[in-house]
Amino acid sequence: MAIRDILILPDKRLRLKSEPVKAADKSLRALVGDMFETMYAAPGIGLAAIQIGVAQRVVTMDIAKKEEPPEPQVFINPEVTWVSDQKSTYEEGCLSIPEYYEEVERPRAVKVKYVDLEGKPQEIEATGLLATCLQHEIDHTNGVLFIDYISKLKRDMVMKKFKKVAKKTEGAKPLAEDDEPSHHIG
Ligand SMILES: [Zn+2]
Repeated sequence: MAIRDILILPDKRLRLKSEPVKAADKSLRALVGDMFETMYAAPGIGLAAIQIGVAQRVVTMDIAKKEEPPEPQVFINPEVTWVSDQKSTYEEGCLSIPEYYEEVERPRAVKVKYVDLEGKPQEIEATGLLATCLQHEIDHTNGVLFIDYISKLKRDMVMKKFKKVAKKTEGAKPLAEDDEPSHHIG
């Protein structure tokens, strides 16, 4: 297992639509291992494979609170099959858009079908943080970012800021971010 570099806005690969995973094999387990290590190190509560540059529909997640035991979850080829009419608002962040947070309104509950690491089809109904996080990560597999839901004015400001930073750090190694707040969703 290895900690992989996380793609940062405005990296164009974040806009790729990821491909479905074909087989629950050894290489998938290796990818998932790297994703968990990268996610926990960030730290984040969710990560999509494209965030480490792998355009496959794989999501890792652990929304357990700090004082609780870890609860790693893996979603292969996740797909939203139902959303509630009722909405909820959560202040979202993203490991690919560091230190930027904005309130996003999404359906409060969702049903998601996916395949587990053994290749078995599963379906869950989620509410609260799990529902928000699932929608955020599934969006990543479709090249969608949470800033797509905020006003154009705010989005343009964020894009401008990150383009400027990318220009400045071109060729330089990204700085370590040890003290990231824990509410980065991923
Ligand atoms: Zn994200």
